[in-house]
Parts: sequence; C-alpha cells; structure tokens
Amino acid sequence: MRPFRFERAGSVSDVAQLIAETRTAQRPPVTAATQFIAGGTNLVDTMKLDVARPEVVVDLNGLGEADLHRIEATDTGIRFGALVRMAEAEQHEAVRSRYPVIAESLALAASPQIRNMASLAGNLLQRTRCEYFRETTWPCNKRDPGTGCSAIGGHDRQHAVLGTSPHCIATYPGDFAQALIALDAMVEIEGGQGLRKIPVAELHRLPGDTPHIETLLNAGDLITAISVPAGPWTARSHFLKVRDRTSYAFALASVAVALQLEGETVHEARIALGGVATVPWRATEAEAVLRGRTLDEQSAGMAAEAAFAGARTGRHNAFKLDLGRAAVVQALMETKRMRL
Ligand code: SF4
Repeated sequence: MRPFRFERAGSVSDVAQLIAETRTAQRPPVTAATQFIAGGTNLVDTMKLDVARPEVVVDLNGLGEADLHRIEATDTGIRFGALVRMAEAEQHEAVRSRYPVIAESLALAASPQIRNMASLAGNLLQRTRCEYFRETTWPCNKRDPGTGCSAIGGHDRQHAVLGTSPHCIATYPGDFAQALIALDAMVEIEGGQGLRKIPVAELHRLPGDTPHIETLLNAGDLITAISVPAGPWTARSHFLKVRDRTSYAFALASVAVALQLEGETVHEARIALGGVATVPWRATEAEAVLRGRTLDEQSAGMAAEAAFAGARTGRHNAFKLDLGRAAVVQALMETKRMRL
C-alpha cells in the first residue's frame, strides 16, 4: 500500500475545506487524490491492490451532523443517512415491514461482519469485482483509461450482458442499489453545487467510452442521504439473488421487484436487475409488458424475455440469459404470493 495522509472530518463543511485544499477537482471522484472512507470495506481492499491510490483519505465517521447517522421513517417515505450501516438498515423495523426489498437486498449482501461496518452510501459506490480491474498487471480501461479491456475476449463469466460497451463489460456488483431504483429512490448530495438531489437510477453511468467515470458525482461531492418514497407497491416487494454459493458471494443474477396488484392484475410493476448489467438496471420493458395483465407464469415469462431482449453475451456468460430470465419469473411469482 502506498503512503497517504489521513484526516478526520468533524462536519460536512470540514470535508469541503479538505477537498478545496487538494487536487481532487482535477480527476473523477473514484480516482481522486482525496477519497472518503466510512466502513472502509471497499476502499481499503482497492488500496491494498494498488487500484485506488489516494493521497489523502478523509474519515467521515466523526461527522457531527446527526441526520447522517440515522433512519427516519414517516408515512410518506423513509430517509437513510449516508453513514447508516447496512446491518442497521437491514434490521430496522420499518424497513423490514414496509420496504422488504431493501431489507432483503441488504441481508443477502456480503457477510455479517462487513454489513456491520459498511455504510449505505459506500455500498452504493462500491467498485466492480472484475478480476482484471483488481489485478494491476492486466490492461483495464476502468483502472487505467485507454489501455484496453482484458475481459472482452477473456474470462467473462461474471461480466455483464446489459449496458455494455466496446470499452468495458464490468458488472455493477451491488444489491442495495437495485432495490432503491425499483422504488424510485433519490440520493442527496452536498458539494460544489450546494445540496442537490438526483434519482439513484441516474447516479451510475453506463461505461460508454469513459468507463473510469462511474457516477454522476463531481469531485468532492459527498452523498449525505438516500430517500425512498412510500408507494402502493413498496410493501409487496422482494429481492431474489442467485449466486455460486448461498452466502458471501456476488450475484450472478439478481432481481428486485415491487408490485401493486388489483386482484391478480398488475397495476404497477417495478423490476430492477443486478449481476447482469454494468449499472443497476431498471427493466422498464419488462414492467411495460406486465402492466394491465394477469400475473402468472406466462406473463412473467414474457416480461423476462423483454428484460433481456437487448442483451449481448461474450464467451462465457451466455448462461446469464437463461439464469436471469428464470430469476425474473421466480421473483415475480414469489412477490405475487407474499401475504401482506
Ligand atoms: Fe477493466 Fe471493465 Fe474491461 Fe474489467 S470489463 S477489464 S473493469 S475495462
């Protein structure tokens, strides 16, 4: 690991001051000279691998603003402070009873030890698990722009089939973000433009020809909260994760579903996919197929076909099409059967 300066920030304005003092503004946040740490479950990994090379690491855990550390549930929605730990959110009574897709996405992630440490905002911003990205002897456009993509034509079993580009096919590795985009969550950001809110669905960028620019965050931007509106679909919601082993593994395919049913007819369907796409992926075509139809194995199958209609496979990941479609059908039928 390379030497770096360690700073503790006591407030959001301290963070802004530290950012102003460094060269952060010249680079995208994920490669910036100054990087933030909360749980450290991802940044420390990538620093040890020499993938992340910050000159200054700013510890956010002592930020004094109380709302960064708490969950507020009201009749109109739920708001998570950015520094709330995954385990705390997963175990919160309102999350479990009124937003089960969020609780399940968190419970199925990582290990209990990691969930106790990792912050919600850090989880949203976790880096890809592409083996070539994490091993610095391989060319990688995301780690070292312009060097090429070793995964294209290489070992791509874990890689994406949706949202890929000729420059990067890395899979977004998280689960929580899919639950959030299915529920139209917003993320609150403090930065050079003051406080702003954007949909979580717009936070991550498709790789295009700049896969090293992973989010819409500007250098120095700090996520302060995530808010989720309550809707008639939030209680009937569910997260399904398919992986090589049933614990402590990243998704090969995952599905976040939220449904508003009138009898057996779908009034509103929200579907987001993980493990198969370069960004948290909202399957809007699949949702459109279901609206107004009776939800059964047949209509769920039609939605699953629509979800993967635009997929592009590589040498070793074509299995994700069948796996992903089956996961969509299973998630929809399990969500329909939920007893509220
Ligand atoms: Fe790098 Fe993306 Fe290619 Fe992986 S898929 S080697 S992260 S450019």
